[in-house]
Parts: sequence; structure tokens; C-alpha cells
Amino acid sequence: MRIIFVGPPGVGKGTQAQRLVAYLGIPHLSTGEMLRQAMEEGTEVGRLSQAHIQSGKLVPDEIVLRIMDERLDQPDCRRGYLLDGFPRTIKQATALDEFLAARQTPLCGALELKVDEDQLVARLASRGRTDDEPEIIRERLRHYGAQTSPLLDYYRRRGLLHEINGMGTQDEVFERIQRVLSTIGAKK
Ligand code: ATP
Ligand code: MG
Repeated sequence: MRIIFVGPPGVGKGTQAQRLVAYLGIPHLSTGEMLRQAMEEGTEVGRLSQAHIQSGKLVPDEIVLRIMDERLDQPDCRRGYLLDGFPRTIKQATALDEFLAARQTPLCGALELKVDEDQLVARLASRGRTDDEPEIIRERLRHYGAQTSPLLDYYRRRGLLHEINGMGTQDEVFERIQRVLSTIGAKK
């Protein structure tokens, strides 16, 4: 099972991703988490990413692509994975297609989580990460609209996009995700 989560910052991708990977028994590959860990460890990738993340900009594609290409080769990815926060640009999506073709492992689906904009801001504001300041949140939402939302059409055209209502309780959202996965043949 190889699945992508798409949706704006604060929509609840991370929360639902954690539940879903526990349910499916596949790794959760969050580029945001990987980059934050690299910053904590002070690696080269971390140093190169810091200013972008703290100002709400996207980290350059070549950095993100480098860590993802390496990560997909780890043995735990053999049975599949859930991508959270990647791809975030059309360039990343076309590179991912190349990574998948080279490994002969097609994508099973892209799940779009959707909530009202005031919900997004409320969820982000309650989280307290240093890139969750109001003006940085606005910057991230702007990048989502400009650079990431074109991915929705990219996957829709390929028949891979599934829209999921992200409003309501975590349990309700998770049930909707499970229902969609059963239609695309996800096995536990
Ligand atoms: P969530 O949707 O889980 O609430 P989020 O999408 O706001 O969270 P992360 O996915 O954790 O946040 O990403 C945090 C930051 O890391 C981004 O604002 C961006 O700077 C950087 N980042 C993460 N993934 C990518 C990516 N694929 N390409 C470029 N930058 C990225
Ligand atoms: Mg996240």
C-alpha cells in the first residue's frame, strides 16, 4: 500500500497519518518530521532547511528529493508507506513518479483532507510550533495554494485522487479514510 496525504497545513494529516499507519502496519514518511529532526541533529540538511521552515517557505525541492529518495530505499518501505507532506510541488510529484517507476511500485491513491479555512487557522494556532505564528501560517497557506494545490488536479487526472471531509471528530475522519481505502483495495 503506497498512499499520499494531501491537504493544507493544519488539516490534520499528521494526526490521521499516525492512526492509519498503525492500522495498516506501514511506515509514516513525513518530510516535515524528517526535516525537523535534521534541524535538531544539526545535519547539513537541517542547516539548509532551517531558514525556509521558520519563515513558512518550502524547503528547496532538491533537498527534499534527496532525503526522500534515500528514505524509500530503506527496508521498511518494501511493504508500502504513507507519504505525509510530500510531494508538495509539481516538481516533487514528477520526481516521485520517477522514483516509483524505477522501483516498479505504483501509487495506490492520493487522499485529500479538506476542512474550512477557519478550522485550519484554529488547529494551527493551538499547536504552538515555532512556525505556527499567525503571519507564518498565512505564508504557509499561501504556498499551499500556489504550489501544492495544483497537485490535486495532477492526481485527479490520473484517477488517483480521493477527497475526504476532515471536519468532525478524529474518529469520524478516520472512519471516512478507512471507507475510501476499502474502495481502493487496502488490506489490513
Ligand atoms: P500538518 O498538515 O500536519 O498540520 P504542516 O503541513 O503545516 O503540518 P509539515 O508537513 O510538518 O507541516 O511541514 C513543515 C515545514 O517543513 C513546511 O512549512 C516546509 O517549510 C517544510 N517542508 C515539509 N515538507 C516539505 C516538502 N515536501 N517540500 C518542501 N518543504 C517541505
Ligand atoms: Mg504535518
